[in-house]
Amino acid sequence: MLTAKHKVGLIFFPAFDWCITPDHPEREERLLYTRDQILEEGLLDVEGIEEYRPFVAEDKDILRAHVCVPSVAARVTESHRIAVGGTMLAADLVLDKKVDRAFALLRPPGHHAMRIVHGSRGFCTVNNEAIMVEHIRHRLSPKTRIAIVDTDAHHADGTQDIFYNDPGILHISIHQDGRTLYPGTGDVQERGGPAAYGQTVNIPLPPGTGDEGLLYVMEKAVMPILADWEPDIIINAAGQDNHFTDPLTHMNVSARGYARLTDMLGPDIVVLEGGYSIEGGLPYVNVGILLALAGLDYSHVKEPVPQPTQPPQVMGQIERITETVMRAWATRDQVDRSRLFGEGEYFQRHRAIYYDTDNLLEEQRELIRLCPDCSGWRLIYSKASGYYSSLTSRGQIAAVVIPWLACPKCRAEAEDKYELIAKEGRCRQVFLQDVARDAFTNWRK
Ligand SMILES: [Zn+2]
Ligand SMILES: [Zn+2]
Repeated sequence: MLTAKHKVGLIFFPAFDWCITPDHPEREERLLYTRDQILEEGLLDVEGIEEYRPFVAEDKDILRAHVCVPSVAARVTESHRIAVGGTMLAADLVLDKKVDRAFALLRPPGHHAMRIVHGSRGFCTVNNEAIMVEHIRHRLSPKTRIAIVDTDAHHADGTQDIFYNDPGILHISIHQDGRTLYPGTGDVQERGGPAAYGQTVNIPLPPGTGDEGLLYVMEKAVMPILADWEPDIIINAAGQDNHFTDPLTHMNVSARGYARLTDMLGPDIVVLEGGYSIEGGLPYVNVGILLALAGLDYSHVKEPVPQPTQPPQVMGQIERITETVMRAWATRDQVDRSRLFGEGEYFQRHRAIYYDTDNLLEEQRELIRLCPDCSGWRLIYSKASGYYSSLTSRGQIAAVVIPWLACPKCRAEAEDKYELIAKEGRCRQVFLQDVARDAFTNWRK
């Protein structure tokens, strides 16, 4: 009998009774063949690979990472709550030392879900990894240093949004260049907010990138950056749509390439994100990842269809991107932040966010208090409506965010502002997100 070198907890939740539409790429069958493949390969008989049942997440778990408009109940289904609960369980298994590593093999995915949730974007409603991160900090300490390495082919714009001003998080996203794929963002120059500048690391790769290119950036960029930052916990948001058979993307990565990546990274927790090659990709990639996590031989994992080679011109581009990323990382503390974020009391950003799954357009204005003593409290004004209807047709909401380790002055200012906006009554709803006190209140007109 095979014995795993590292004890692995597997949490499997295919959400067979939930889909966006029956013929949607993010559909029920996504994990069907994977399940068969794992059983056929006898992986559940391996000593040290244990299966665990997910639990159902509560409102509070979700509210640590999100502001759901108008409420959690209005935005998420039972399937979302189980996917979130399964991801949280993966963290619990590792924190409680029941296993060395955990693999949350579940759907619906989450990495396009941003802090404010008016609906679904990129097949995501709530962000499984982000909720797990807040769960970990809630259980351990807000000072726990957590790195998220997102290896989905799409830019992890939701995760980036949630943590872009969070000094406790290092977020690395490797993805197909946004100029060639949804959601269009993820340029090297997107490097984080005033309190966490440089800790958002984007590595956009050219279409056609295969194992060679992906493993090159792992070795030359991701691993050195991690070694430098020294996280306590490494999470891999393991989207599998870089696979060469994926119908939505244009990459050439194999199951063995993914397994090698997992082997190099040595993540504590792996969470499935995208991946839409139901029969030709996912079963092999998942088996590869599981074997690598367990410290078992993955060299025999092979798809029935041959892998195309990486086009020759791609490697030069990847080398140049890697150089740019590493230069940006090395000089992140030398950048004059007042030039980027101003010298006033607040840094302000305006954004238009499109929810492709629900065809909503959100208009958002965010203010971050530039505070020398903490990462600064935040005020977000947001409104969303159907793309073709007027943006003013639904009222604006406001969200006041008190970050982990907020200084007393920021906390007091934030609490006052919440009361004031509620009293003014110009917003339809006002939310207060206070992770440190684990308190999430909201005022409604
Ligand atoms: Zn994806
Ligand atoms: Zn402060």
